[in-house]
Amino acid sequence: MTEVADQFTEERSGEVTRIAHWIDGQRVEGTSGRSGPVYNPATGEQSGEVDFASVEEIDAAVQAAKRAFTSWRTISLSRRTELFFRIRELVHDHSEDLARILTLEHGKVLSDAKGEVARGLEVIEFCCGIPELTKGGYSEQASTGIDVYSIRQPLGVVGGITPFNFPAMVPMWMWAPAIACGNTFILKPSEKDPSASMYTAELLKEAGLPDGVFNVVHGDKVAVDAVLEHPEIAAVSFVGSTPIARYVYETGTKKGKRVQALGGAKNHMIVLPDADIDMAADAAVSAGYGSAGERCMAVSMLVCVGHAADDLVGAIQERLPKVKVGNGLEPDSEMGPLVTREHRDKVASYIDRGAEEGAKVVADGRETAPDGNGFFLGVTLLDEVTPEMDVYKDEIFGPVLGITRVDTYEEAVRLVNENPYGNGVAIFTRDGGVARQFQFEVNAGMVGVNVPIPVPVAYYSFGGWKSSLFGDLHIYGPEGIQFYTQGKVVTSRWPDPATSKVDLGFPQTR
Ligand code: NAD
Repeated sequence: MTEVADQFTEERSGEVTRIAHWIDGQRVEGTSGRSGPVYNPATGEQSGEVDFASVEEIDAAVQAAKRAFTSWRTISLSRRTELFFRIRELVHDHSEDLARILTLEHGKVLSDAKGEVARGLEVIEFCCGIPELTKGGYSEQASTGIDVYSIRQPLGVVGGITPFNFPAMVPMWMWAPAIACGNTFILKPSEKDPSASMYTAELLKEAGLPDGVFNVVHGDKVAVDAVLEHPEIAAVSFVGSTPIARYVYETGTKKGKRVQALGGAKNHMIVLPDADIDMAADAAVSAGYGSAGERCMAVSMLVCVGHAADDLVGAIQERLPKVKVGNGLEPDSEMGPLVTREHRDKVASYIDRGAEEGAKVVADGRETAPDGNGFFLGVTLLDEVTPEMDVYKDEIFGPVLGITRVDTYEEAVRLVNENPYGNGVAIFTRDGGVARQFQFEVNAGMVGVNVPIPVPVAYYSFGGWKSSLFGDLHIYGPEGIQFYTQGKVVTSRWPDPATSKVDLGFPQTR
């Protein structure tokens, strides 16, 4: 048991825990005088107060990471692999604790929190293969007596800035490949649920990761800007909303950094008239309301072609009363609260907005939210949503599912392709030819065929298109390894007096 886990397993009797930074292998209390509240969304009570880093505190973390890089990059691949296997075991063995921390600060139900940890673990497992993943190429006798080989080297100190909705998994998408590749890492997690990162820091130390290789600094825009401006941070990975992703990409690249910035989404699920309607309804309810809709891959718009609309609305209506909304720690809860009161209120305001704009409110989550001070909303279903409406255009990021009715497959694909976002998309059909045509022509980074949340497995890479990603490389998987390393090509010749002469011409290979 670690210090952070203890705080979450013992009865907390209403006290507010101070959440500090993690720099150079230890907990460091902030000195900026700025901090922010952390809540238990199921009860509405404040459970923590997180320190916000100043520019100087970000610099202290960078200096620790820089010192650690000097020796970390020299650690052999076999020792790094051994350490990653240990990290994998520790995270696996403590996944229940980690999941509990997620539920208590984010609100998602425990089973979902365990799923988050499991998907993050897959990325750690992928990183256990680091020697294979960073292997270069070798060309013998590229010219007479000359061999050429390529190697991939770490960048140095790299940073990660993460959103509230996956407080353990998204950081794992970043720190695991970054560290496995030989970089040292500065994590700036969401200030809304920062404890999972502190727990991770303790686990990494216990696994034997040298001090300074993994650091956590908390905060808001001040901390983010300090990361973006810092001349000794070589690269930044960001996951969050589109306006901030765009800002991070533009600011970071202007400062000469390598940046991958994953943004928001409006994920469509197209349902064709030949689809298995029960399967589509199960998928729509799971993908629309799972984690209270606070997933970047959540389905938020159902685009129903022809009679699929009436069939699907009926099937979803049958399922909605059975969705159990409640405290994520209760074993029978299927959907927890939203992350903050402000976010809950903003999501709720979209129900009125939808009705004013002409959508039909089939289910109103305000009427079915559990009583109490928690930040709960029930499930909401809006039918007859059209593309001009705000409820169609905006990423609501809550348990609000919209239905748009169209006459043809072509119209449905046009809606998806004209949308500014391009994260995930799904099609439900029994027609293999149409599904193949869809994956060929749809403009989105991750496509599901009868799969509503097509998050790629760890040995592929995750990322959207259009306003859902700024930068060239997707996150984790092979592109993650590429992002956190830079290529070097060595052209080498060993002394051979027989072939040595002065030649001022441009080097020839033939
Ligand atoms: P957010 O953009 O508000 O915050 C993300 C990070 O940016 C946080 O660490 C936050 O502290 C920081 N930040 C917030 N405002 C800032 C500002 N003005 N300047 C600098 N930094 C700032 O996102 P969120 O609300 O935490 O997370 C939800 C969003 O993340 C949704 O839009 C969701 O779609 C997106 N998301 C995307 C993916 C993906 O893979 N594409 C995955 C998860 C979440």
